[in-house]
Amino acid sequence: MKDICIIGFGLAGMAVTRHAEMRQMSFDVISDGSQMSSKVAGGLLNPVSVKRMKPVWQVENFMDYARSYYSDLSKKLNTELFSEIPIQVYIHNTEQENNWYEAYDNPRIKPFINPKLNENSSNSGLKTNLLGKINANLVTLDDLIASYTKTLIEENIFISEKFNYQKLIIEKDFVNYGNNKYKHLIFCEGFGVSKNPFFNDLGIYGNKGDYLIFHSEELKLKTIAKAKYFIIPLGNHLYKFGATYQREPLNHNPSETARKQMTEALDKMIAVPYRITEQICGIRPTTRDRKPILGTHYKYKNLHILNGFGSRGVMTSPKLGHDLLEHIFNGKPLDKEVSIQRIYDRT
Ligand SMILES: Cc1cc2nc3c(=O)[nH]c(=O)nc-3n(C[C@H](O)[C@H](O)[C@H](O)COP(=O)(O)OP(=O)(O)OC[C@H]3O[C@@H](n4cnc5c(N)ncnc54)[C@H](O)[C@@H]3O)c2cc1C
Repeated sequence: MKDICIIGFGLAGMAVTRHAEMRQMSFDVISDGSQMSSKVAGGLLNPVSVKRMKPVWQVENFMDYARSYYSDLSKKLNTELFSEIPIQVYIHNTEQENNWYEAYDNPRIKPFINPKLNENSSNSGLKTNLLGKINANLVTLDDLIASYTKTLIEENIFISEKFNYQKLIIEKDFVNYGNNKYKHLIFCEGFGVSKNPFFNDLGIYGNKGDYLIFHSEELKLKTIAKAKYFIIPLGNHLYKFGATYQREPLNHNPSETARKQMTEALDKMIAVPYRITEQICGIRPTTRDRKPILGTHYKYKNLHILNGFGSRGVMTSPKLGHDLLEHIFNGKPLDKEVSIQRIYDRT
């Protein structure tokens, strides 16, 4: 019998897998390609909510933890998929300028932003006069997931298939799935949870995000730039631009509306020619209170969930993957703000 079966290998499943590995536990991962959120995500680890110039939720709890997690994971996988990169924020008017200086007086933001605003150089290709700088990080998620998956396949512990809920037999102290027995099952299916009969009543809903990939020889951007959307350099004169938020329709077809919104915004952000080469999208698993959901099923003590990461999975999933395993195997209580209990208490 193995300790855990992990269902889904996006950011959530990856965090559980990594912590299970570090604890030298035995496990299998079962994942299919039905959800794309982590694969298409920008991979930004950004401590500041730019729109409101406020620190993001529990930044002190999550930011440093995430940085050392991705840096260790990059070393383990022998890749360079994690980097420091500033975000240059467009400052359009005096109000935004004042907000920036006010934010710098906030001790929770101070460590992450530059006190001074910089003049934009005339040949940058960016349409703005002033820029503010945030110290952020970037994770190349599609490569990270591909590289980690490869090592798990080599170890014979990654099963590339759809999990069939009908085949699950739950016993008192373990579960049977196919020919395998596990002490615990941890569901990390992202928006795929809507098909999970054990956890589809937690109010996790989808929010679709589209990105454009564009090519521009003239844009010489080495940092991330942010006005309405983010421009993220990918190398070889390619850039990722977005992402949008759409409640409907929740499918994986690139949206025409999103494309229009983004091209209009890109025209306002850059002053050089570009060519769109691709449009990609994914569905964020989102919750009403915008907090992740983790914990144990109210009836089945060997079924657990890690989900609801919304638009900030890069920062919060590493620490919460750790906290969930501490909860399951060492009985450590979960933070009430993220515990599944808050949802059960409401119903
Ligand atoms: C366009 C876009 C941009 C984003 N940018 C950022 C960003 O810059 N920074 C940030 O922090 N966050 C960002 N996010 C949000 C972030 O990507 C999500 O919080 C995160 O991907 C959620 O991860 P997850 O593992 O819960 O879900 P997912 O990534 O959806 O992974 C779930 C996995 O489970 C698999 N699965 C589902 N059901 C089954 C089943 N029955 N059997 C087997 N496998 C199954 C799926 O195929 C998938 O592989 C972005 C999201 C989008 C869509």
